[in-house]
Amino acid sequence: MALDEFGLIRRYFARPGLESPGLRLGIGDDAALLDLPAGETLAVSTDTLVAGRHFPHDATPFDIGWKALAVNLSDLAAMGARPLGVTLALTLPEADEVWLAAFAEGFFALADGHGVPLIGGDTTRGPLSITVTALGAVPPAQALRRDGARADDLLFVSGTLGDAGLGLAFALAQPLSWLGEFPPAHRVHALARLHRPTPRLALGQALRGIASAAMDVSDGLLQDLGHLLAASGLGAELQLEQLPLSPGLHYLAGEGGGARQQVLSWALAAGDDYELLFSVAPGQRGAVEALARQLDLPLACIGRLTSAGGLCLTWDGRPWEHERPFGYQHFRGAPDV
Ligand SMILES: [Mg+2]
Repeated sequence: MALDEFGLIRRYFARPGLESPGLRLGIGDDAALLDLPAGETLAVSTDTLVAGRHFPHDATPFDIGWKALAVNLSDLAAMGARPLGVTLALTLPEADEVWLAAFAEGFFALADGHGVPLIGGDTTRGPLSITVTALGAVPPAQALRRDGARADDLLFVSGTLGDAGLGLAFALAQPLSWLGEFPPAHRVHALARLHRPTPRLALGQALRGIASAAMDVSDGLLQDLGHLLAASGLGAELQLEQLPLSPGLHYLAGEGGGARQQVLSWALAAGDDYELLFSVAPGQRGAVEALARQLDLPLACIGRLTSAGGLCLTWDGRPWEHERPFGYQHFRGAPDV
């Protein structure tokens, strides 16, 4: 590489003067030093993004930088944790300074927006891959775990679902004939949701003491819900007509030619939405509605948890007549729930 490892780190990622509460020593020494707030416990999450697998090869470096951080902050949000700092391990095929500058710009656009300092990192040469580790703090009794849900709890999801799935169809230029007349503004929105997801950090922290369980929707609602059900030993009834859709997906769902089925498939199974899925006791519905107004973020009640295992999908009160749709493996009666 034209620049050695330390030159790269210094030029694009070391930011002297960045102050963050509890950060005693940031990037540049053998390890960072960070104080943990009194009475809180450390929440740690790490994710690797690989070119061609987690983002298209032609994704912009700005978007890759944003998303690599966003998916990790989303995991902290899903625990109800407040981010303290992140580390970044970059494997790069070459020291492309234009690429690095744009990557750093995307990464810090999100980091600075949440006041999250980069406290350490590493760079090596190889096929493009990005690993971020996020460190957060949460009072241990208030952490939003997956195993705290109870039967009859209501299931909520934040924001809208399925936009990233639609965005991926655009990004991969999939031949979907009914997308032909799709309004350009909705297309821009879907691509932004795919490439620059919003970690729901304020919501996650506000759900402390309200939610009985929570997780983020990274792999698709049905698959992620399956993990929550397995952890809590419960089943669920999902009301598909309540799934929160963006105006673009509403528009598509009204088109013919299998569009509604495709929209449902994106909302249920495409993943990459990074919304929060959470359960609350029935008496907490008002608290959730107040939170939605306070955060100006839609929080939709999409069903409830049941003591009977498995998953029951309904549309307007009637069973949704599809046999194991969307590859989901956790239907009622299946042995793995
Ligand atoms: Mg997660």
